[in-house]
Parts: sequence; C-alpha cells; structure tokens
Amino acid sequence: MPAPIVPPEIHGNGLLARYPFLPQSREWLKILGAEENITLKTLISDPYMEPARNRGKLRLIEMITHSEGVDMHSISDIHTREGQLMEIYSFLFAKLIICSIGDEVLVSRWAQAEAELAEKRLAIEGDKLELIAKTYIEKLVHNPSDTIQRLKIWDGKGNVRRFGYKRGTWELGIIDFVELCSNISGVRWRLSNHDVSNGWVKLWDEENYCSDAQLSRLLRERIKLEIQNDAIIQIGKLGDEKIIGLENYIKMVKETLGDFQKKELELSQVDQDDWPPCMHKAINELARGVNVNHTGRFFLASMASKIGLTQKEAVAFFLNAPDFSESTTSYQVGQIFEMDYTPTSCEKMKLGSNCAVEFGDNSLCDKEWLKNPVQYVAVKQGWKGKEIRNKE
Ligand code: SF4
Repeated sequence: MPAPIVPPEIHGNGLLARYPFLPQSREWLKILGAEENITLKTLISDPYMEPARNRGKLRLIEMITHSEGVDMHSISDIHTREGQLMEIYSFLFAKLIICSIGDEVLVSRWAQAEAELAEKRLAIEGDKLELIAKTYIEKLVHNPSDTIQRLKIWDGKGNVRRFGYKRGTWELGIIDFVELCSNISGVRWRLSNHDVSNGWVKLWDEENYCSDAQLSRLLRERIKLEIQNDAIIQIGKLGDEKIIGLENYIKMVKETLGDFQKKELELSQVDQDDWPPCMHKAINELARGVNVNHTGRFFLASMASKIGLTQKEAVAFFLNAPDFSESTTSYQVGQIFEMDYTPTSCEKMKLGSNCAVEFGDNSLCDKEWLKNPVQYVAVKQGWKGKEIRNKE
C-alpha cells in the first residue's frame, strides 16, 4: 500500500507516547533516553522504571487473555513528562519480552492487542487522528462537518462500548481501502457497500458508527502489520542472544499463555476423528493465529452447532484469532446457533479456499454425493455404528 515517504511531523509528545509504534516516535525516544539516562539495564531493573514494567506486563496479559483489560488511559498522567515516559517505555518493555521469546504467533497476538488499543484511542482522538492516519495512508482527505457530536456506541446490553465523535466524512484512495480491508471480515467492509467515486471511497458518520471510528478500524490493520514487522526484524537482530534480567517475565508470559490455552482446549467429548478435514484445517489455522476468512468462520460455528458442541466450545475455536473479541464472537456464534444454519456446502468451501483436500486425498471427500461437510460426520458416525454392531 502506498504510504507517504515522509510521514507528517508530530510535535506533541503525549501523542507519541499514546502511539509508541509510530515512526515519528523513534527520534523522540532517542532524545528521551539520553536526557533521562535510560538504558536497557535501567528499563529492566531500576526501581524508577517499575511503573513502566508493570504496565508492560499488563499489555502482555491483555494479549494472552483478550480480557480487554489494558486501560486505554495510562496509569500515570500522559500530559506529564513522567507519564509519557512510562507509557512509551511500557510498550518498549513489552516488545522486549515478546522479541526475546521470539515466537511468531505470540508476536501476532501482541501486535493485535496493541493495534486494538490504538484503534480505541484513535476513534476518540479528534483532530489529531488525521496526523496519525496520514502517517500510513497517502490518499486521505477529511471533510469536517460544521458541528461536532459526541457519539456513544452501545454494546447491545445497555453499556457504552466506546465513544466517538461525528466530525464529518473521510475519503480515502480505493487502493488503500481495498488493501486495508483485505483482512477484515464482514459485509460492512465490502467495497460494494461503500460510496465510491472517481477512485475515492467515502466513510460517512453513521448512526452508531462514526467515520472516525471506521477510519480507526482500518488503521488498526496497518498498525498491526507495522508492529508485527518491526518485532520480526528485532527478533532477527537478537538471534540467540539472551537478555539478562528478563527470565522471570518470559516465564510469566509462557505460563499464563499455557494455562490459558489449556482452558481453551477443553473441548467436548465428540470424537474429533469424525470431523471433516476442513474443520480441522479451520481450527488449526485459528489456533496458529491465522486469519480465517468469513466463509471459514461461518462454517466452523455452524458446524459446531450441528454436531452438538456447546456455544462456549464454538467460541473457544476463535480464541487465538488475530481479531478475537469475546463479546463479538459470543454474539455472532450465538446468532448462528440460534438460527440453526446449515454449514457451508463443499462447493462454497472449495471456492473460498476453505476445503482441505485435493482429489485423491480423502476417499470420503471424493464421493460425488458428498455435498456438505455435515454429511462427512454423519457418514463417519454411521460407519462407526456399523463397526460396533458388527463387533457385537
Ligand atoms: S470435500 Fe467437503 S467435507 Fe471434505 S474437506 Fe472439502 S469441504 Fe470439507
């Protein structure tokens, strides 16, 4: 995606602390480190940096649990130099731990959690949003409205999920839009559902979704990629080097992750050998943090419903998805269970690259009459019934 060669200058240090992954933050960090005499050793062990380490730990726990627990607001006052210092160094400390572990799935989860935090902040950033957005998107125009309305976005249970500002419309280049949307599932993000004219896509202030929040959602994708790529470069630079003093933090991340994954994998007693290859494929990809497309996600949830898994078990499949949100997934899975949809047909699965086999890989999948993965389970269970009766 064409990004501006020279990103816009950002002068407010508060802004750089809130978005520490920005390329503009690097210069400021150098100055800050020199002025405050902060070295790697200070960051890891100096009592003065403890608030930064604690918040860095919180950032990592959020990555693992998706608890939405990283407060959007810093623990210290972001308007003070100390608050800014703690916020930006908490990000660096978390990054140091992640890069020291060197696991790409963890990098992806961490980048996702940081990008989600950035999205929440950007949606209410107001006029500074343009500066950040223009760091990543070259063709972008804001058409401000005469009045600014503060908008509450509800979660459907009577709680305010987030705030946003109705401040006018955004227009972005069609190529930027398409590339930013490529990993976002849901009909809302299809180009055909947008107002497109002369190569520009318009984002409007909608009743419950202001254009600032929509742009922030798009930026989240780009921010995640930037954080992820940067971490992978750092992992390469670190190589086998072990940073002294991080051992306990690394252990904490691995243990918390291990406990959490154990809980995730408490699946039902349904015999997993009977599941079709496409179901294993979707589950394995999600477990590895791969972004399964809409067809694959719908298939998995509807399949789980058909074969008698619980909603909780179905939600657990998605826990490692890069964009996992417990509330959204539970709601969507709940809808699919309630409507009792038929899982996606084999034909559509093949078209969406969700089928796991080629002709000759699996004799049951090769059968001409096999039109839907549900039939695969039914046949397998039928065969098993026969085997048991034969034995008897
Ligand atoms: S042929 Fe059908 S059941 Fe078999 S893996 Fe492909 S989609 Fe699944």
